[in-house]
Amino acid sequence: MNTEIIKIDPNNIDMPLIDRAAEIIRGGGLVVFPTETVYGLGANTFDPAAVAKIYAAKGRPADNPLISHVCSLEQAEELASEIPDRARKLMEHFWGGPLTVILKRRPKVPDIVSAGLDTVSIRFPSHSVAYELIRRAGVPIAAPSANLSGSPSPTAARHAVDDMDGRVDMIIDGGDSLIGVESTVVDMTLDVPTVLRPGAITAEDIAAVAGDCVYGGDYANAPKCPGMKYTHYSPKAKVWAVSDMTKIPFVENSAVLTYGGGCFDRPVYDAGGTVEDYAAKLFYFLRKADEDGIDTLYARLPENEGIGVAVRNRLLKSAGGKVI
Ligand code: AMP
Ligand code: MG
Repeated sequence: MNTEIIKIDPNNIDMPLIDRAAEIIRGGGLVVFPTETVYGLGANTFDPAAVAKIYAAKGRPADNPLISHVCSLEQAEELASEIPDRARKLMEHFWGGPLTVILKRRPKVPDIVSAGLDTVSIRFPSHSVAYELIRRAGVPIAAPSANLSGSPSPTAARHAVDDMDGRVDMIIDGGDSLIGVESTVVDMTLDVPTVLRPGAITAEDIAAVAGDCVYGGDYANAPKCPGMKYTHYSPKAKVWAVSDMTKIPFVENSAVLTYGGGCFDRPVYDAGGTVEDYAAKLFYFLRKADEDGIDTLYARLPENEGIGVAVRNRLLKSAGGKVI
């Protein structure tokens, strides 16, 4: 497939270009687009044949449902059969932004989007290019991250091109993703709102608006990650998650990935000063290490708080549970 690669400035949007991308979505094609979290690989939610192409392009297992991206509350109502009050409060408070809510789905949501579940996951991104694309397409856009299944999510257009050139109709380069880890996924169909995937918006942030929220899954307060079903977010380099940076062994052709400074006896990928900077650069450097031919990467494990919960979750998966 011939992939058209275009550039759109998020601060000065070229609407004729957006309209070409929207036309591809309406016509049943695939468009890679920037969001504030990571790059997405999008198709019309209501077109099952188009959504099937997403799974094929990524090599994604069919039992893993997709998030539908919307540009209004009304569009979310087309997908969800009921929106409990506390879910509506969350949507009004955090949208557009990196929060995905899981709700009961309407029958018109194709099975392939929800992987056969009776729920649908919905997000309203804050990125201007994503917003305009959804608005002009006029349909919700089902989109997972724009990487080959198992690889780190792309947070730079170049990395989306590496994985998706030749597999999609169009790739929109809108610059680097600001947040760098995927959205927080919160299940609003349970008695207590439960975070299924941690992100920039924390369980505490959600509880402050919805009254209650807990972390579910294997990352809750976990010092290390047990029982990994799939490897995920994995570069070719062997990754170790490091809680004590003074204990890194010397290994040939290895490098360190860290933030907040420090002195090391080998090449360093410096993600910046804060854990937010680290989140923004984590996937970028996992891929950069491969480009640089690094065999072993020692990556700092941040504290389990704030966006650090999400960074730990991704890092532990990419390390396959290997912790120092
Ligand atoms: P990605 O495809 O990389 O954007 O990741 C989407 C995440 O949301 C995956 O971890 C999915 O398993 C999860 N997800 C999407 N829809 C649902 C749903 N209806 N119920 C539970 N998890 C979901
Ligand atoms: Mg993904």
